[in-house]
Amino acid sequence: MKPEFGESARKPLDVLRGVGPATAAKLRERGIESLQDLWLQLPTGFEDRTRIARLDDLQLGQSAQVEVRVAAVERGFRFRPMLKVLVEDDSLRQLSLRFFHYSASQAAQFLPGRLLRAYGQVRLGGTGYEMVHPSYRFIAEEKAGICRDRLDPVYPNIDGVGTATLGKLVRQALQLLPPESELELIPEALLADLDLPRFGAALQAIHAPDPGTTLAQLQSGRHPAMRRLALEELLAHHLSLRKKRLALKSKPARPVDVPDSAFAPFLARLPFALTGAQRRVVEDIRADLRTGHPMLRLVQGDVGSGKTAVAALAALAVIAGGGQAALMAPTELLAEQHARTFRDWFEPLGIEVVFLAGKLTAAQRREPLKRIAAGAPMVVGTHALMQDTVAFSNLELVMVDEQHRFGVGQRLSLRDKGESEESSPHQLILTATPIPRTLAMSAYADLDVSVIDELPPGRTPVQTVALANSRRDEVIARIRDYCRQGHQVYWVCTLIEESDEIQAQSAQAAFETVAAGLPGVSVALLHGKVAPAEKSRIMRAFKDNVVQVLVATTVIEVGVDVPNASVMVIENAERLGLAQLHQLRGRVGRGATASHCLLLYQAPLSAMARERIEVMRQTDDGFLIAEKDLALRGPGELLGTRQTGDVGYRIADLGRDAALLPEVLHVANRLLAEYPERADAVVARWVGAAARYAHA
Ligand code: ADP
Ligand code: MG
Repeated sequence: MKPEFGESARKPLDVLRGVGPATAAKLRERGIESLQDLWLQLPTGFEDRTRIARLDDLQLGQSAQVEVRVAAVERGFRFRPMLKVLVEDDSLRQLSLRFFHYSASQAAQFLPGRLLRAYGQVRLGGTGYEMVHPSYRFIAEEKAGICRDRLDPVYPNIDGVGTATLGKLVRQALQLLPPESELELIPEALLADLDLPRFGAALQAIHAPDPGTTLAQLQSGRHPAMRRLALEELLAHHLSLRKKRLALKSKPARPVDVPDSAFAPFLARLPFALTGAQRRVVEDIRADLRTGHPMLRLVQGDVGSGKTAVAALAALAVIAGGGQAALMAPTELLAEQHARTFRDWFEPLGIEVVFLAGKLTAAQRREPLKRIAAGAPMVVGTHALMQDTVAFSNLELVMVDEQHRFGVGQRLSLRDKGESEESSPHQLILTATPIPRTLAMSAYADLDVSVIDELPPGRTPVQTVALANSRRDEVIARIRDYCRQGHQVYWVCTLIEESDEIQAQSAQAAFETVAAGLPGVSVALLHGKVAPAEKSRIMRAFKDNVVQVLVATTVIEVGVDVPNASVMVIENAERLGLAQLHQLRGRVGRGATASHCLLLYQAPLSAMARERIEVMRQTDDGFLIAEKDLALRGPGELLGTRQTGDVGYRIADLGRDAALLPEVLHVANRLLAEYPERADAVVARWVGAAARYAHA
């Protein structure tokens, strides 16, 4: 890479006119420190001053440019200062321009008959159409009718640095843009295949769009310049994950190589045979463990595909080799269920299982902490595992269940507990959120991915119906029938972003209605406020079929496994996203009996909610549902907001730009193999700055 690139790009802002220490400091707070940061400060929108609208063509709400003469001026002082300038054009219509802040000299410029051009949003005022605080300038008679030929970029308002000032700085910085030979980081050979503009040209095209460019092209991301920059940004993030991965992979880890016989006693006691997919994934894991470097593997498997058994086999391998394994789950309920499962599976084999969760009292934690420090082979818990007070003696395998519920940082901080000079722990990440391949490639480029693409045999697809809330009585009558036939039922109350307290109240109310409608049926209630001991007692009773109907909040959303439960009612299903509905519904359909899911909704449904419910009725396939979710809502929901928030793209949008991902992968592979120093420069250009930005 030519050194000049870095030099011009990193030039500090004081080479620009109008940047004193105060402005520089304000910009720095927002992560803008160099010329390059200004180049990458893209406009947040555009104003279209390429056309002049006639006053009789104006539409309410539209932003438009008009060319008008001053007809009259009114100044009001009664309540607060106000300047109202009545203007007109050839159409003989009038428009008011209103100002609440203005200087005397400014007001004095509006002489009747003067020609001016104003740009603003059209609103309905007291006396007809008006523009409030339009931008305007007076123009000479001979310039009448001559418009600008390109869209005007609009920059954000950074505290203390106005949009106009920022725009001026960006324009100056662009004048100092070095030639493409210094700027372009994608090698000629690859650029030719992409059919996209060069970096410098793309920047110019966005900051000063070519004549003829439309707002729609720029905003939809279809414009080649936008695609070029988005591609490079996605490339930078992808490369940065790949490089992190390479760094981790180069560390040593104690090789774990145990014979098949180490698994035999476990498999012999398991009440089922592994599916082909489970066996394949276990072999992927065993191969990783043998390498002498840390495993970094994501196991993706739809709800109910049997990820827990895979995790158990991974743990067994490490434990047989003398190490400790830890499994972290996102909710207390799930952690406790895992602890129970692992005890059932491991204790008969003489393997100790320790459980640690946040809600234990200090006295209750003392014993588990002691056993973890003493080397207890299998540890199951919640986030509590990551606390400073938890010390392992020989942590070799870190497993995270339902990874989308955790931030990347949390996964890493558990790993750090097993980190030492000589070795780094293996990591196994489990997720039920099926992520379309291209998206996985970009979000999880630091991980190897195995997919459990087969459900255990004998499952019958869940029948899903949608019913309006007004038919609640009918629903209760159906539940009564199901109960008579011996089915067990989840009744899920959903409230989004309300406190535990309010959720508990609404679950309580639902519980009372349901219990009153089902005399003679044993109904229980579970929500976030129920004490931990009581929670586990209720779950046990439900698992043992002592409780027949479980009314619960979405605490049961992830991971809960009660195979005999075969009916799920979801209240206010219209409020939930597809991923969440799929997770919830995945709690049923786990046994051999036909299962049912009843989605209750509050009419009228929005178009989006209607579509989601329709998708749920039509398919059970997690991948199809994920693709739909991506199309409907973008990637935030799929990946978990924390994670997309961590990434903080400036330009790219994983939903909008998903089609670029295959090219990103291709370019990334070529760069890493053939032009490693350019790969570094791409990461430096985008990711270093983005990280600063996110912390600003
Ligand atoms: P998830 O992938 O959603 O975490 P679980 O590990 O909870 O799924 O497994 C779902 C259910 O399927 C559990 O009751 C589990 O015991 C059972 N199961 C797992 N693997 C198999 C298999 N190969 N055959 C039959 N049942 C299985
Ligand atoms: Mg699970």
